[in-house]
Amino acid sequence: MSIELSVEFFPPQTTEGIAKLKVERAKLAALKPDFFSVTYGAGGSTREHTFAVVKEIAAEGFDAAPHLSCIGSTRAGIREILEEFKASGINRIVALRGDLPSGMAEAGELRYANELVEFIRAETGNVFQIIVAAYPEWHPQAKSTEADLQNFVRKTKAGANAAITQYFYNADAYFHFVENVRAMKVEIPIIPGIMPIVNFSRLARFSDACGADIPRWIRKQFESYGDDAESIRAFGLDVVTGLCERLLAGGAPGLHFYSMNMAKATVEICQRLGLCATP
Ligand code: FAD
Repeated sequence: MSIELSVEFFPPQTTEGIAKLKVERAKLAALKPDFFSVTYGAGGSTREHTFAVVKEIAAEGFDAAPHLSCIGSTRAGIREILEEFKASGINRIVALRGDLPSGMAEAGELRYANELVEFIRAETGNVFQIIVAAYPEWHPQAKSTEADLQNFVRKTKAGANAAITQYFYNADAYFHFVENVRAMKVEIPIIPGIMPIVNFSRLARFSDACGADIPRWIRKQFESYGDDAESIRAFGLDVVTGLCERLLAGGAPGLHFYSMNMAKATVEICQRLGLCATP
């Protein structure tokens, strides 16, 4: 089966974190991903760290896609970053609005991701493949599902080549979203974002904040395990592998793993899916 596989990291802030990520990345190399992506703190807060990880990935012979968010930034600042990317041979960007850090009141010169995509195209033509974010369960600040869909389409018209979704655990939400997008005559690949479940209580807190739904049957099952880490691990693997199987069987063109800088769960899921060799 040939699908697009990618894995996301966040840029570590410490020397130990950087060394640990290198080790985890070496394990993930077994998946032969199409690219590794590296997140970017809104307002440029991780600019140097993101770029450092991107350069390390490229030096290891992999394609690296930096994320770039526009909120709180100026056009001149974004232009400078695009120049830096271009000079380093980067050819893929995940383009986002980002979220304003608390205490930061200024949205900046580019307010939404569609404006960033437009700006990247105007400044650099077709140098970069541009990937945008998609929300099968809708963006938490969306005025309505219809408005969110229209805003997604706006990003594609501005020149996005592909989209990666927010994570979700309900395959029907993805199929419904893709159907809606196709009805708007948008044909770009929409890659499901997959969050392996390693620490359920942390995931539950995080999901509430970003608007990702954890279905009641999954939540209840995890809660029933209490501190039983082995049962949590085993059930998490079953749930996410099952989700991926349904998505791929239903035509998803690839999988993007939110690794949280840990290789184990992502590698195990891919082995179960037959996407890489089992040791
Ligand atoms: P947009 O597409 O701009 O949408 C944001 C909201 O505004 C939506 O409610 C939309 O309906 C509305 N909207 C969009 N366009 C318009 C318009 N023209 N007029 C009026 N309303 C509009 N965050 C980070 O800080 N760093 C990262 O590296 C990062 N990586 C991510 C990767 C993926 C794959 C995903 C799914 C999310 C990522 N995020 C990241 C989180 C993301 O920044 C937040 O979800 C943010 O709130 C929205 O970003 P966006 O690019 O989707 O915004």
